Amino acid sequence: MSNPLVIPCPHCNGLNRIPTDRLGDTPKCGRCKQNVLLSTSFELTEGNYAAQIKGDLPLLLDVWADWCGPCKSFAPTFEQAARQLSGRCRLAKLDSEANRNLAGQLGIRSIPSLILFKNGRELTRQAGAFPLQSLLEWLRSQGI
Ligand SMILES: [Zn+2]
Repeated sequence: MSNPLVIPCPHCNGLNRIPTDRLGDTPKCGRCKQNVLLSTSFELTEGNYAAQIKGDLPLLLDVWADWCGPCKSFAPTFEQAARQLSGRCRLAKLDSEANRNLAGQLGIRSIPSLILFKNGRELTRQAGAFPLQSLLEWLRSQGI
């Protein structure tokens, strides 16, 4: 027996209820029929932010910018983490230049910045790029 998790669809923002024992079965969105769980990161914007930080599956947000060298070198690590964490944590990227209001609202002072959300609230954040193992350990310390 498992309680369903509420998970927003990364494509249409529809909320899905997915039993924990079905997380590995490539669940489809009830609204748009696309995959709810990705093994890549997806793009967060001011338009989908409020919908996407909701839900029972944590969301790890990478705040980056095109001019930021460390952000660019961190990007492949972030994608590796997205593959490894599929079904346990959702990973998204926020372009701080294209979404300046939201970056300001989030109080971003340096990039890359990583912010972990669950159920619509920020749990914790870290500034700077990490090697994959450190990133995974940090998330493990948050119960992921
Ligand atoms: Zn959908």
